[in-house]
Amino acid sequence: MKQTPLSKNDIVTLEISDLTPDGAGVGKQKGYVVFVPKTAVGDVVSARIVKPLASYAYGKCEAVLIPSKDRCEPMCPVFSKCGGCLFRHIRYEAELRIKKGWVEENFKRIGSLPVLCSKILPSPQVDGYRNKAQIPCGTGEDGRPSFGFFAPHSHRIIPCGDCSLAPAFYSAVIRCVSKWMEQYGIRPYDEEAGRGTVRHLFIRDGRTSGEVMVCIVANADFLPHADALADSLRREIPNVVSILLNVNKKPGNRILGDRCVTLWGKDAITDVLCGLAFDISPLSFYQINHDAAELLYRTAADMAALSGEETLLDLYCGVGTIGLSMASRAKRLVGVEIIPEAVENARRNARRNGIANAEFICADAGEAAKRLVQSGQMPDVVMLDPPRRGCTPEVLDAVLRMAPSKIVMISCNSATAARDCAYLAARGYPVSRLCAVDLFPRTGHVETVACLEKSN
Ligand code: SAH
Repeated sequence: MKQTPLSKNDIVTLEISDLTPDGAGVGKQKGYVVFVPKTAVGDVVSARIVKPLASYAYGKCEAVLIPSKDRCEPMCPVFSKCGGCLFRHIRYEAELRIKKGWVEENFKRIGSLPVLCSKILPSPQVDGYRNKAQIPCGTGEDGRPSFGFFAPHSHRIIPCGDCSLAPAFYSAVIRCVSKWMEQYGIRPYDEEAGRGTVRHLFIRDGRTSGEVMVCIVANADFLPHADALADSLRREIPNVVSILLNVNKKPGNRILGDRCVTLWGKDAITDVLCGLAFDISPLSFYQINHDAAELLYRTAADMAALSGEETLLDLYCGVGTIGLSMASRAKRLVGVEIIPEAVENARRNARRNGIANAEFICADAGEAAKRLVQSGQMPDVVMLDPPRRGCTPEVLDAVLRMAPSKIVMISCNSATAARDCAYLAARGYPVSRLCAVDLFPRTGHVETVACLEKSN
């Protein structure tokens, strides 16, 4: 076997000098790099080598010998086990600095675009900001139904009643559903056996409206004793307006199935964002941090700088939030989205806000963009807000053929955003502005917004 500079279980003292994009601290021992998760730049730590490889190793922090000045108390009992937060152990200012650096670094390294990230807008709330949770259900060690999170790289449930990122009342919903399951003998879904009923608990709340949706994701077309569940949820959570079953009978990691059944109340909740009311169905995407999403949309609107004369194309529009929030400053808005329920929401959202210059197409972004080009529709400004994997070359090529004066790229993945911006920059659309908005405090995610302007 090949000799490695350090062996498994060696204890080393390291000074952490950098962080990787997935948040692990970087320390060096005689030129050999050791990655140590949950450390901070400036820490001196004692680390145990857990995985030595030829040119680097993974370590586990055993003790912080000299703490970095960025350190703070994690204030979460499961921070060491849960994979949700990356940054509970460092101050929020330091987290923002790191995230801004990531965005800039990705644009420089992946995109070869040496553009400065002008600023990172902090989230107005650092805790309790999440308006949505999808909580796995399993069987606890005592045999009772348990809601929590999956231990990293496994499907073992670690119970967690109150996650700091979600509002406190989510734990009351968890308690209520757990009690109902125990009372009526409704079993958690067992992945391996393919038996049992409840797979996930999906909660969403409208941060401005206060409306709450509770959705049981189950391996069943029908939920027994649903009336009892509805009665108890309505008693415990007075703001609940929608109780649903989502049917997911397919094995695998996908959380939601394609079909929802309304058990009680409305089939969608309403929230107010940027002064407009939005209907949001369970299958539709909606930004999970309301107040920071408003900052994100405002930043995108600043970059678009619409005058009222433009046709605006909102690709990957979800329930229409970005485009509709700017529609009063555009002549015409066209939105494109692939999920039919979200498109239905977007159309209804335009009507309920009295917006008459908007239309929505239910299609793949690439297909729709190609069709728009073929029919000679040339938007002046294009908003791109793709999922994490970014845009396909087909989408980018169609957008280039539209020859808009501006393209605004919004993305929750600065790596794919950098790749796609580089593609556009090489074809006549240099990046004129780049900034970040922190929609996901304490986690390893951040939103990127870039403005690309047609060069003469
Ligand atoms: N702009 C919206 C949604 C952004 S999330 C907002 O801010 O709320 C990305 C959206 O792209 C999701 O709604 C997702 O359903 C949609 N989507 C994913 N793949 C797509 C594709 N190939 N074509 C069109 N829309 C797609």
